[in-house]
Amino acid sequence: MMACEVTRLSLNCARLEYNSSAGCWSWVVPCCSLCGRQHVHGGGSVESDARRWLGHRVAHCPTGLGGSGYLLADVNPRRTLKFIRQIRGCSRRELAA
Ligand SMILES: [Zn+2]
Repeated sequence: MMACEVTRLSLNCARLEYNSSAGCWSWVVPCCSLCGRQHVHGGGSVESDARRWLGHRVAHCPTGLGGSGYLLADVNPRRTLKFIRQIRGCSRRELAA
């Protein structure tokens, strides 16, 4: 039996984005499996590992559709790792300047 069958929670694929003005990560769900809307979840500060914020999250769906939340999954882990390295590299250069 797969893990997602045990939990009975919906799975939402999210992509990592970076908010440079706030200095923090965001996980963006383009199309929610429960309501079909876009949701944005926090992913911590730039120095933290945004991937720790994947997994069970409170649903951001309009009232009544969210239930007990859903699972956030990284839609492209390889791209995420590359993106984190890219952004942190930029941050270090900015801090050093
Ligand atoms: Zn939703």
